[in-house]
Amino acid sequence: MRTKKALLSIIFLSLVLAPTLTWASSLVLHYPDMILHNGKVVTADKTFSIAQAVAIRDGKFLAIGTDANILALAGRATMKINLKGKTIIPGLIDSHNHMEAAGEAQYKVPLGKAKTVAEALTLIKEWVAKTKPGEWIRGGGWHPLAQLQEKRYLTRGEIDSVAPDNPVFLPTVGHFVMCNSYAMRLAGITKDTPNPPGGEIQRDPTTGEPNGVLAEAAIPLVSNVVPPWPFDLRVKMYKDAMKTFNSAGLTGAVIGVTNPESFKIYQYIWANREATMRVSLMYCPTGEPIPTEPLDEWGRIIRGIGCYSDFGDNWLSFSGIKLIVDGGMTLRTAYMRDPYPHDPNYYGSFLIPPERLSKLVAICNRYDWRVGIHCVGDAAIDKVLDAYEYANKEKSIVDRRFILIHASLMQPGQMERAKRLGVRVDVQNNFMWDKAATVERFLGKEKANRACPTRWIIDRMGIGSIGAGTDYPVNTYNPFINMYVMVTRKDKNGVVYGANQAITRQEALRLYTNGSAAYSFKEDVMGSIEPGKLGDLVVISNDILTCPEESIKDIKAVMTIVGGKIVYESK
Ligand SMILES: [Zn+2]
Repeated sequence: MRTKKALLSIIFLSLVLAPTLTWASSLVLHYPDMILHNGKVVTADKTFSIAQAVAIRDGKFLAIGTDANILALAGRATMKINLKGKTIIPGLIDSHNHMEAAGEAQYKVPLGKAKTVAEALTLIKEWVAKTKPGEWIRGGGWHPLAQLQEKRYLTRGEIDSVAPDNPVFLPTVGHFVMCNSYAMRLAGITKDTPNPPGGEIQRDPTTGEPNGVLAEAAIPLVSNVVPPWPFDLRVKMYKDAMKTFNSAGLTGAVIGVTNPESFKIYQYIWANREATMRVSLMYCPTGEPIPTEPLDEWGRIIRGIGCYSDFGDNWLSFSGIKLIVDGGMTLRTAYMRDPYPHDPNYYGSFLIPPERLSKLVAICNRYDWRVGIHCVGDAAIDKVLDAYEYANKEKSIVDRRFILIHASLMQPGQMERAKRLGVRVDVQNNFMWDKAATVERFLGKEKANRACPTRWIIDRMGIGSIGAGTDYPVNTYNPFINMYVMVTRKDKNGVVYGANQAITRQEALRLYTNGSAAYSFKEDVMGSIEPGKLGDLVVISNDILTCPEESIKDIKAVMTIVGGKIVYESK
C-alpha cells in the first residue's frame, strides 16, 4: 500500500513540477536514499510479514515490498545494496545493559579471562608493571564466583602481594568489589569503620580486619575516591562502546545505571550528533542505585531533575529512575522466599528497608518518574510489587510501565500481580549461557530450571510486557547467543535448564525488537520494519527463522544500519 502511495506521489509531483526548473531537485528529494533488495526482510510487524526489499529515506523506512516494487522507486543517487539472499531483521534493542563497559575494557585489567586466583594475580601484576607507582589500577567486570576454579573473591593480602605500591579497585559484574590495602587507606577504611546501611565491609573472621571485599552500599566508600577518567577519554570510550554494540547488530540500548556524570557524556555525544546507538537511560540522580538520602531530600532531588520519564528524543532519552533491592542469583545474594539449600537461616540480602522502598518509589511516581527496580529473588520481587502497589494508591502507575529488572526467579502468581499494575519484566536469558551451573550450585536444580521464566511471563503477561536484555558486562552482549538460550534453554555446555521455559524464534525476535522498544514507549517509532519507522536494521549472516537451531548462536551481523546510515559492516 505505502509503496504504491509513494510511487503515486512521485508521479504526481513530476507531473505538477515538470514545467518548472526545480522539478529535478524536488524529485531527487523524493527518491529513497538507500534500497536493500534481493533479500528476506523479516519485518517483525504485527503479522510478522516477510518482504524482499526495503527503501529508506531521511533516516526512516519509506517502503517495504517486492524487489520490483521497491527498485522502481530508485533514483540515480539512490544507493542500492544487493543482499544476495541474506536476511534482514529490525535493529536489535538491548533492554538492560551497561554498554559503556565495552569502551572501558582496554583501560582495565582484563580479569574476565582468569580461570584461577593465581591467573588473576598474574594479570594484575602485568598491569602493575606498566603503571607508575601511586596510580590507580582498575579491573574490568568479572565474576570470580562463577569463573575462578576457587569460586571466591581475591583478598586484600593477595592483591597487596602483586600490587603493593598502587591503589587497586576491582569491581565484579556488580554488587561486590575487591580492593588492596593502598586503596582502603585512601578511602579511610579501617577495622573501626562501620558497615553503611545496605552495604558490608567484609572482614576476616579471626582478626576483624577488612579483607578487601566490599558489598553493595559499601562500594562508594572506595569508588568515590577513584579519580574519574578525563571527559574526552570517556567520550571516546562511550563512542567505542556504541560501535562495539553496533557490530553485534544492536541499534538501541537501555542503559541499566546512569549517574549524572555519565549522562553528561551521553548528552555531549548526542549534541554533536555522533551517536550510533539509540540510548535510553535508567537514571540515578544521586549517582547511587541504593540512595541513602533522607526521604525529604530524595523528594527535593527527584523534583529538582526538572523533567520526567521519557524526556528526550529517539537518540537519547531518560527512561526511569533505577533502584536496586537485592543481589544476584549468581552471587548467592538474591533475596528468596525459601532459605538457601546450604543454610536454613540464609535468605539472601535485601538492601532497602521495605517501608522506605515504598516511599522512595511513591516520591518518584509523584513527580511523574517511572521506576525500574533490580530485583532477582522471589522475595525481593514481592517487596517491589508491594512498593509499586503502595505508589499506585497515591497515583496510578498502570499505564506507566514500571519495571521489574531481572526478575530472574519470578513466580507465576507475581506475574498476575505485575500485570494488574501494568508492570513490565525485563529478564536477561543469557545469564543461563555461562552461569546456569552457578545458579544451580547456589539455589538447586529446581530453581535453576525456572530461572528466567520467559515462557511463563509471555503466557501470563503478554509478549508486549517483556523485552530482551543482556546485563552486559555481566553476560555477553551478543544478541544471537541470548536468543539461542531463549529458544533452546541450553547453556554453553549444552545442558538444558527448564525446557518448558523455551520460547519460539519469532518470540525471541519480538522481545529484542518491539518488546524492548516498548520499554521506553518507543514501539511506535522503532522495533519493526514498517513505513515511517526509524530506519534501523541488521543484515545477518544466517536466516534466524529457518537455520538449524544450533546455528542461531553463531549468527553474526553483516551490516548494521541506524537511521539509514551504515554504522557497521563486516570485513
Ligand atoms: Zn545491570
